[in-house]
Amino acid sequence: MTQQYNTKSAGVRRLMQEAKELRQPTEMYFAQPMEDNLFEWHFTIRGTIGTDFEGGIYHGRIMFPAEYPMKPPNLILLTPNGRFELNKKICLSISGYHPETWLPSWSIRTALLALIGFLPSTPGGALGSLDYPPKERNRLAKLSGDWKCKECGCLMKDVLLPITEDGQSKESEEAKQLAAKLKFQDESAVKKEVAEAAKASSNTEETGPPTGSSDSERETPSEPSQSAQNLTENSASEAEAPVEPQAPAPMPEHFHQPARRIESSTFDYYLLIKIPLALLCIVIFLTLGARRLLVENGNPRNGEPEL
Ligand SMILES: [Zn+2]
Repeated sequence: MTQQYNTKSAGVRRLMQEAKELRQPTEMYFAQPMEDNLFEWHFTIRGTIGTDFEGGIYHGRIMFPAEYPMKPPNLILLTPNGRFELNKKICLSISGYHPETWLPSWSIRTALLALIGFLPSTPGGALGSLDYPPKERNRLAKLSGDWKCKECGCLMKDVLLPITEDGQSKESEEAKQLAAKLKFQDESAVKKEVAEAAKASSNTEETGPPTGSSDSERETPSEPSQSAQNLTENSASEAEAPVEPQAPAPMPEHFHQPARRIESSTFDYYLLIKIPLALLCIVIFLTLGARRLLVENGNPRNGEPEL
């Protein structure tokens, strides 16, 4: 595989490094690139104990953009789970509204743990997710062990290390915390959100249904406001979202944030020069003023008459 890819590319080097680090399965997750494509991986994750997904082992694909890790990977679940739609891109989304949701320092491991943590979360309308009753999710979880991937051929119950209470609780906790930070959105929901924000800001009449709106209607029946209620972690920013003026920006341009950071650091740098310069000017001005005053006071012509 090494010969096929430009090893000078940061993305290629990073994916190769991560493939090495993830070579051994853990109790909770396992992921490796497809033999013929470094930018597509298959992963397996375990549902956490005490949730509707306990006992479930779920398989899926990860697709990396050429800009990875500057842009986040997309995930697709293939095993029926009752929480996420199958064969549908789930984006670890960074919309203009949520620039905090993906950092280039995060990794495939981060994405998988976040997905594990996200499984038991309440589905919001913006997530393009399924809201199956717990009983059905339990049933799917039990069936998942015998699920086999048609592409890579792995059987779910054979992929991960046998579960121990220690390993599970440690990674589950990490998964929970990550899920609170990251936001998962499917593509059509993202498009819908952008289209609505654009409509709200331009305030023009509708010329036609936004791209992917038929998908959105079928798969994400609830309104964005409902998702704001459900995603308590994100509720503040969700509620503010529609009034943000940058909304109509094209969706995949996820990473405005690093640019903003550079701007602000340049700004700080100039400030560091400007403030001392201004102080220096004030000091010189005051010194000159004081000196002149002293000279004038010392001058007998202007002093009190000597009589
Ligand atoms: Zn597979």
